[in-house]
Amino acid sequence: MPRHLPQPHVDLSSSERLGELIKGGPERHVGGNGQTLPDSAEVTPHQPSTAIPARAEALQRLLGASIDENRHLTAHVRRLKAELRRSSAELAKLRQLRGAVNDALTDPLTGLANRRSFDLALRAVAVRRSSPAHLVMADIDHFKRVNDSHGHDIGDEVLRIVGEVLLANVRRDSLVARVGGDEFGLLLPRASPRYAAGIATRLCELLASRPLVVRGIPDVSERITLSIGVAAWKADESSAEWYARADAALYQAKRGGRNRVAIDTHQQTAARARQLPSEAAL
Ligand code: GH3
Ligand code: MG
Repeated sequence: MPRHLPQPHVDLSSSERLGELIKGGPERHVGGNGQTLPDSAEVTPHQPSTAIPARAEALQRLLGASIDENRHLTAHVRRLKAELRRSSAELAKLRQLRGAVNDALTDPLTGLANRRSFDLALRAVAVRRSSPAHLVMADIDHFKRVNDSHGHDIGDEVLRIVGEVLLANVRRDSLVARVGGDEFGLLLPRASPRYAAGIATRLCELLASRPLVVRGIPDVSERITLSIGVAAWKADESSAEWYARADAALYQAKRGGRNRVAIDTHQQTAARARQLPSEAAL
């Protein structure tokens, strides 16, 4: 009597079914006609002669299906690997591109934005007509003396520290850039004239109020002062014109004696210089 065993799993893959057949395991459902093959232990010389060819045929069918399945899987894995290689190469290229863009827009000495990215930001304000933005230009006073007295490396360190001080004392939405040798630019978006003048004055006073301790070299400290020009964005002017007005205000501050803020306004063509407590002598 053929032994009736539990039903096989319906989602058994062809290779699993093949395995069961090769093992001679309990699963005996080999065809779509629901025929149950007898258990191998019960196969006798008196068994119907059709049983063995039927099993061989079933094995062949499963073997064929398994080979097909395997071929499809191998091709699929190969495609996935190729896709992964392509994606990894694209990702590496994107990273490289991002690094190159970052390098092109960053000042390597201070890590601040450079002149190029500052110009782009100014142009964006002018194009979007986003009043009331303010532009603040700051230049270190008598910086050549720092280099001459202490060497270029200390000068570099002073530039870094000044950059950090500027960055630490403006709102997060402001852009701080090193736009030239010892010249820094601050773009203050959505800033009232009062806020912009207040920030410029505070930065000026902050630097002048205490000696700058240059890291790593305890004996060297410098009194660093800034001259600062401020200009509000004026409707219908180009970013270059805006920049030139702020720069003119900065040089007005220099001419006025340094360590001070000069503010260019819409109404005034000449910058108004505001004297700060004292100009520190280096
Ligand atoms: P002023 O008060 O008129 O601004 O006088 P200054 O001596 O600061 O003159 P100026 O701003 O014209 O000179 C800037 C100096 O900054 C000239 C140059 O030797 C120095 N400098 C420019 N780039 C660098 C730099 O990357 N590192 C260092 N250490 N010095 C620099
Ligand atoms: Mg200078």
